[in-house]
Amino acid sequence: MDTVENPLGDAHRSADTFAEGNERYQLLVEAVSEYAIYMLDPTGRIRTWNTGAERIKGYTQNEVLGQHFSLFFTPEDIQSGKPAMILATAAREGAYQEEGWRVRKDGSRFWASASITALFAENGQLRGFGKVTRDMTERKLAEEQREQLREREQQLRAERAERALMESAVRMRDMFLTVLAHELRTPLTSLLGTAQLLLRRGQREKTLSEKDRRGVEVIISQASRLNTMVSLQLDISRLHTGQLRVERQPLDLGALAYQVVEEVQPILTLHTVRYRGPDTPIWVAGDALRLIQVLQNLVQNAIKYSPAGGFIEVLVERYDTAAQIIVTDEGMGIPPSDLPHLFQRFYRASNVDDRQISGLGVGLYVVKELIMLHGGTVEVESEEGRGSSFIVRLPVFEIQP
Ligand code: ADP
Repeated sequence: MDTVENPLGDAHRSADTFAEGNERYQLLVEAVSEYAIYMLDPTGRIRTWNTGAERIKGYTQNEVLGQHFSLFFTPEDIQSGKPAMILATAAREGAYQEEGWRVRKDGSRFWASASITALFAENGQLRGFGKVTRDMTERKLAEEQREQLREREQQLRAERAERALMESAVRMRDMFLTVLAHELRTPLTSLLGTAQLLLRRGQREKTLSEKDRRGVEVIISQASRLNTMVSLQLDISRLHTGQLRVERQPLDLGALAYQVVEEVQPILTLHTVRYRGPDTPIWVAGDALRLIQVLQNLVQNAIKYSPAGGFIEVLVERYDTAAQIIVTDEGMGIPPSDLPHLFQRFYRASNVDDRQISGLGVGLYVVKELIMLHGGTVEVESEEGRGSSFIVRLPVFEIQP
């Protein structure tokens, strides 16, 4: 009996529960602030709005109710008909989800994760859509930052690999040059020695015709040039491996420069090379052979880069606590833009024509390294078309022997 006594009572209770549930659901939806949750009618007009929607999109309920939801889309998306496409897809397939840029009331954009669900009546008629949107801008930006970081790392890795490749190519080149210089040294020495022997014997025994004597002299001078280049390359190899050492002893810089100037006299045709120095010695602690090499290099450059001839001075003087050598020429000079690079390996100034004045661009590099090993400095002053001065300074050796 009880079960049929109050049939409406149960029905009432369940209707109440349903209404209560619905209300609670409404309250819940309204309170959610992380998500924009709202309903659209079948044409896409906004029917409900919640706190989250207001927070994310910036519109109050009064501002948006009745408006078309394309309000939140970018002009590009509106242009391409995206809002209508979304509704059509959701109606056809029941739901639609995507991530994309949306626009807030203030015009700023945010990265939205949006899902839309079609709502149907029991008879299958479309009643509208439920929309849930979340602002994922921070995640998106973090992802983009991560992506940028990844790209930067990749770029760095690629750069490192390229650098390593270049360094290994340079090492290979240096190794090749070192081996070549070593291999050339022995045959060159024997060539030079034999030619000098022939010349001496020919002169002593008068067995050489004038023509042959000149021929042998050409062999000697060319072999000597080759020998100088090979020695320079070996010096560079030693510099790189830290094996180039200087044996320093007290020596008179004036006497040394004078010797170099005297030795160069026999080969001069177009140039005049003069020594100027003090009457008293200027002592430095130096490796005589290496300092002679430095001076020879500077004097030979002065000759080489004054193709029209001219006056070259080798001046030795005291400069404060330093002994100073200045080699000055009246040659072609050096353009200002080349001056800072002149002592770099393989560097040649832009005003030299390789076909007319040959060179490897390593002489001054070795000069600088040798002077640095002596605790000194080398500088250049020049005016293009007027001439150059190379200034070497070495610490004076104060305790006079
Ligand atoms: P190389 O003479 O073999 O080229 P160096 O290292 O001796 O090598 O000289 C480097 C460059 O410096 C030369 O190529 C030249 O451009 C410039 N240079 C050196 N000495 C002089 C000089 N006295 N006058 C003008 N330019 C010079």
